[in-house]
Amino acid sequence: MKIFKSKTDIYNYLHPIKAQNKSIGFVPTMGALHKGHISLVDISIKENDFTVVSIFVNPTQFDNVDDFEKYPVSLDVDMELLKNAGVDCVFIPNKEDLYNGNIKSFEYDFGMLGRIMEGKHRKGHFDGVATVVKLLFDATIPNKAYFGEKDFQQLLIVKEMVAVNKLDVEIIPCPIIREEDGLAMSSRNTRLSVKYRKEANFIYKSLKKTLSLSKTKSVAEIYKYINDIFAENDFLELEYFEIRKEKDMSEVKNFQHNVEYRFFIAAFIQQVRLIDNIKLLSLPL
Ligand code: AMP
Repeated sequence: MKIFKSKTDIYNYLHPIKAQNKSIGFVPTMGALHKGHISLVDISIKENDFTVVSIFVNPTQFDNVDDFEKYPVSLDVDMELLKNAGVDCVFIPNKEDLYNGNIKSFEYDFGMLGRIMEGKHRKGHFDGVATVVKLLFDATIPNKAYFGEKDFQQLLIVKEMVAVNKLDVEIIPCPIIREEDGLAMSSRNTRLSVKYRKEANFIYKSLKKTLSLSKTKSVAEIYKYINDIFAENDFLELEYFEIRKEKDMSEVKNFQHNVEYRFFIAAFIQQVRLIDNIKLLSLPL
């Protein structure tokens, strides 16, 4: 497994591989890897001749300094996991080099998509994400790049960034991998104490409950239900609950037949911010 720290070096290594018509799969990560990340890697390895993973805690996408500073790092374990998974090449850029010494986001206009949910609550987050993904794509020249549906809005933002910049990269969505109790795997879960970690699966339990409620309850009743149960929960603080149409992320007033929805939650537990979502399969007529 090759390791690169300079974007010029990795580009010079990958360019001849691509020129031989070999496909490059790319999985961008912020490290502190878990089975969720590895599931993306496994899909990339299956679908491509060559798989590249990046590990970079991107400063420009953090709106909260504390969250950035406390972001978990476990490089040695990460490298072991990637080697065992069969990754060909790891890119661990340094921020000065990746950003050409100017560690700032480009400004994008993602319209409504950039202003709701994560865009609303984390100012500048998606400009930071879109900027770093573009810089990483420039260095790793992938044919396909793999993103988890856990960060569903991010996935759509990256697709939009690719369209705006007319990049020749296919964005592949990958399913959410969960712990045994349903909690979506996340690097941030390691920041929770045992007691809080046990309580954190309330997020997924609530999302699952909304799926069953949607058979009989209205959209407004489901919003009220979630707000009520979180208000009564001593461990979690709800930041938002949203029901959106999966196709265009538009707001939902009433459920319709044959439409696909996603339900989203962002919540704080022990000062750690966790997000999750679940798909409501279209209701047949
Ligand atoms: P991160 O390191 O958190 O930036 O995540 C890197 C990639 O892994 C992103 O595309 C995430 O959506 C994806 N990812 C993180 N957690 C999970 C999970 N539990 N299941 C599937 N994909 C995930």
